[in-house]
Amino acid sequence: MTRDDHRAADAADPLAICRAQFALPAGLLYLDGNSLGPLPHATVAAMTDMVERQWGQRLIRSWNEGWIDAPTRLGAKIAPLIGAHSHEVIVGDSTSVNLYKLLSAALRVDPQRRVILSEAGNFPTDLHVAEGAVAAVPGASLRVVDRSAIADALADDVAVLLLTHVHYKTAERFDMVALTRATHEAGALVLWDLSHSVGAVPVDLTAAGADLAVGCTYKYLNGGPGAPAFLYVAERWQDRLASPLSGWMGHVEPFAFTDAYAPSRGMKRWLAGTPPMLAMAALEASLDVWAGIDRHTVWEKSAALWTILADAGRAAGLECVTPADPAHRGSHISFRHPAAYAIAQALIARGVIGDFRDPDILRLGLTPLYLGHEDVWRAGEILRNVIADRSYTAPEYRQRQAVT
Ligand SMILES: *Cc1c(COP(=O)(O)O)cnc(C)c1O
Repeated sequence: MTRDDHRAADAADPLAICRAQFALPAGLLYLDGNSLGPLPHATVAAMTDMVERQWGQRLIRSWNEGWIDAPTRLGAKIAPLIGAHSHEVIVGDSTSVNLYKLLSAALRVDPQRRVILSEAGNFPTDLHVAEGAVAAVPGASLRVVDRSAIADALADDVAVLLLTHVHYKTAERFDMVALTRATHEAGALVLWDLSHSVGAVPVDLTAAGADLAVGCTYKYLNGGPGAPAFLYVAERWQDRLASPLSGWMGHVEPFAFTDAYAPSRGMKRWLAGTPPMLAMAALEASLDVWAGIDRHTVWEKSAALWTILADAGRAAGLECVTPADPAHRGSHISFRHPAAYAIAQALIARGVIGDFRDPDILRLGLTPLYLGHEDVWRAGEILRNVIADRSYTAPEYRQRQAVT
């Protein structure tokens, strides 16, 4: 495929108009939106309105003018992106904190089941939080197995299977339908971490029959650094699970100011404290960018962009660790190379921002809202050049710095 072919693909791309909604620096090829999404222009205006008018002028009256409902309102905006009903999603706290809430609740469903089962090499916070959750429940433990052994490890002591749908390093994607079914046949609940899925691959929690889910909003959803995360509980579980972080915002009547805790009905019981409204305003503006965008169009374009980089990687002789079958992968591509760190640095110096994951993974994110076919082709050409002329071996690229 030539540059002209990629230009033609851009001209025919229904998502090409979305690029103008993002404040990306000119000339930069940003292939790290799977780690920190870029700034939407609308976020700047929304933050200004939040600070100057809602906080500055309206002051405490704003709680009754849209603030108090923000966690459920934003949850309803995320719901269509994950195949959930609007009353099954709420926004608040971080993914780590939401994992703690849901894992703790799932461990208390059946006293005969006290094991959290998860994948070796899962995203660190998922395993670390699971360790903390089992430490707080007598007799509970964490069992970690290779991804190929998960289905066989669903024994009758498992309370909850915790999986990250799309792997942060390799972009391998689990079969959500099959594993949810296997988990239910084993009598356990499943908790899907959708941090690398939402806004990237089509997710249908309802069709899969999933029980619980969490996910991050500062990656493909562009909610801003540290944006509040989301939490999903299938309707059938909503009255049966309760948050261990029983804060006043999750109380059935927060403004009755009673001593005793009683959980709210529905999703509000998963709130702990006061919602961070400045961050919520930024996230809401970024969610509105997604309104009206067809998830399947996004995924089809992601798959096309993936092929462009896979071809470039093959031409450069790089080992690709991401599955070639689109049904088994997410929206980034990862190459394994002993000098992955130096290659990532050499790419950044040439205006291509991707990232490195210890010890030997070069990771490039494909985000169809603001990357075109020609952009990705250019990034691939730069990658090929960096490998072919061995410019990554220059001493300035070898020194490791703080992680990005
Ligand atoms: C990014 C990511 C998180 C982030 O958790 P935070 O609490 O926001 O730091 C969690 N899980 C997975 C799988 C992720 O990719």
